[in-house]
This record gives sequence, structure tokens and C-alpha cells, in this order.
Amino acid sequence: MEETLKQKFKVLLAYQKKDIELRKINLTLERDVSLAEMNKHKRAFNEAKQAISECEQAAGGLLEQFAALQKYIEDNEALLAELENADETGEEELESRVRRLESLKSKFQTADKKMHDIDDKSKTVCKRRGDALKYGNAAKQKFGEARDKHNALVSSKADEITRLKAELDQMRLQLDKKLFEEYESLVNDNKFPPVVPAAASDKKDMFNCGGCGLSLPQNGNALLSTQGWCRCDNCRRIIVHLS
Ligand SMILES: [Zn+2]
Repeated sequence: MEETLKQKFKVLLAYQKKDIELRKINLTLERDVSLAEMNKHKRAFNEAKQAISECEQAAGGLLEQFAALQKYIEDNEALLAELENADETGEEELESRVRRLESLKSKFQTADKKMHDIDDKSKTVCKRRGDALKYGNAAKQKFGEARDKHNALVSSKADEITRLKAELDQMRLQLDKKLFEEYESLVNDNKFPPVVPAAASDKKDMFNCGGCGLSLPQNGNALLSTQGWCRCDNCRRIIVHLS
């Protein structure tokens, strides 16, 4: 490989080495178990919040049902008092009074059943709300603990990240512009690392891509021997042969 080009690749490879270091640290932060814990507890907390809001809605509905039922009972009680206080009347009217009292009796029985039903539902709603409050608070506390742990990890890596970024900024000034554009375009395509060595193959003077591992075609091998580098037909990475 021509000497100035070799130099360009060498500084690019030094840059890539540092870039790899930075990516490793960032990956450590992204894969931190505390971060996953934070997300888990946040979901649990939101579920609890949702359950509490559903309970409050249900409680509102039950209160309305209760008020309507109370009104119904009061109306029937008034009717009962009216029937009880009625003056002595004839036989026909007495029979009708008995019929109305019978019907009132069944109405009170229905009302009683409904009241029990509301009572049972209220107990269920209260229990669910209490449970949700409990696990919501637990989730909030566990989220805080996980967040503290994650923040501690982030802080412990902060200096190193700042240093690597500053060094990369500095090194970028010395990179060949065109080569670096190619480098970045490969990074954006998730081809990391973008520059790979030519890997030796079973056949003499024939190489494989050091990135995807595929064997290079004839013209790729020819370029490697004439100019010292080529692009992989498969993964498009820059393959270099610096010797
Ligand atoms: Zn490849």
C-alpha cells in the first residue's frame, strides 16, 4: 500500500479503536440491569395507577346506584306509611290494600338484595384499590432504588466518556475527510466496525472479509494486492491489508 494512504488508514484505525472503547461503555450503560429494573417498576407503578383510577370510577358508579336505591326505598317506605295510616274502609278497599302491601314486600326484598350486591361490589373495589396502592408504592420505591444504582453507574463512567469524546473530537481533525465520510455512512448502516482487516483464507493470496467472513472475489483480491484495500461486495465494509 502506498505510504500516505497507509498513514490515512492507520489514523482511521486508531480512531476506530477509541470509538470501539466508547461504544463498549455506552453499551454497558444501555444494558445495565438497573435500567431494565427501572422500566419494570415504572410499568408496575403505571398499572397500579390505572387500577386505582378504575376503582375510583367504579366507586362513583356504586355511589350513584346506592343513592338511587335509597330513593327507591324511601319512596316505598312513604307508600307503606300511607297504607298503614289509611282509615278503616270497606272490604274491597281492604283487599286492594293487602295486594299493595304484598307488592311492597317483594319490592323491599329486591331492594335488600340489591343493597347486598352493592355492598359486595364495594368491598371488592376497596380491596382492589388497597392492593393497588400497596404495590404502586412498592414499585415507586423499587424504581427509586434502581434509578440510584443506574445513576451511580452513569456517574462512574462519566469522566471516561468525556475523555474519550474529547480525544475522538481531536483525532477527527486528522482524518481523511472522504474516508471518514465512508466510515460514518457505514456506522449509520450499523456496520460496526466499518474498517476491517483482510482475513487470511485457505487459498494462497486469497482473502476473506474480516467483517462478515465471506471470501473475496477475484477483483477484490486483486485490489487488495494492488492498492492495499477494497470494499466487501457483501457487507460493504472497508477491507484493508496494511502489510
Ligand atoms: Zn463483508
